[in-house]
Amino acid sequence: MKDISKKIIIGNWKMNLDFKSSISLTKKISQNFSKIKTSHEVVVLPDFLSLSGVSKNLNKKIFYGSQDVSPFSRGAYTGEVSLEALSQIGCKFVLIGHSERRQYFSDDDIISYKMKNVLENSKITPILCVGETWDQKKSNQTLKVINQQIKAALAKIKTLKNKKIIIAYEPVWAIGSGKIVSVEEAVLVHQEIKKIINKMFKDKLPLDLRVIYGGSVNLSNFIEFKNQPDISGFLIGGASLKASDFVKIINKF
Ligand code: PEP
Repeated sequence: MKDISKKIIIGNWKMNLDFKSSISLTKKISQNFSKIKTSHEVVVLPDFLSLSGVSKNLNKKIFYGSQDVSPFSRGAYTGEVSLEALSQIGCKFVLIGHSERRQYFSDDDIISYKMKNVLENSKITPILCVGETWDQKKSNQTLKVINQQIKAALAKIKTLKNKKIIIAYEPVWAIGSGKIVSVEEAVLVHQEIKKIINKMFKDKLPLDLRVIYGGSVNLSNFIEFKNQPDISGFLIGGASLKASDFVKIINKF
């Protein structure tokens, strides 16, 4: 497995913005971004409807992706958005298994189909989200839960050879709560995630595996995670909605 030094910072806009405000945020991020120099990869994840407009207004050095994808390739699946449509519109990343999708849309059962679809049928990089609840953390279940979620998500994948994959460790209790995991705990989980992938795929390891942290990352706490080789970046919700904060994090990380 290649040791990827390139860090990645991803902004998850969720359903916080309408079309107009997505375009306005895109323009602000692009303006701020053009004033900095960074070698990090940067990605924004607008809602499906805004993707096309965002792509036209986004700084060309910033990537965009979707917050979800259908497990099906095409057909009578009302309300779904296909992988092919996302590819055609230029998405390079797709978020899968965010805790809000697991909680409100029963995604647990279909994450493995979505992962299979993306990994086997496209060059899009999946960003798989995993993380424990507060109760699970309190009862020392964190590593067990992470193990189960990764194994379940990749259950239908036989090989990761030549694939790129990002795993976002996002403790559910830290998302949008203002609470953040300690750097020591994050490093431990990130290392465990790499071990799980190594064990599962042995000689069929991905070309590029990056493990990133998400959960209440903001301008006043992100710096703690700097210079941790096991932490390849962030998935950021709230703080990605403020262009100046988002770009400052990119600049200083
Ligand atoms: C997220 O939604 O993935 C997230 C990490 O949100 P926040 O940064 O707001 O906690």
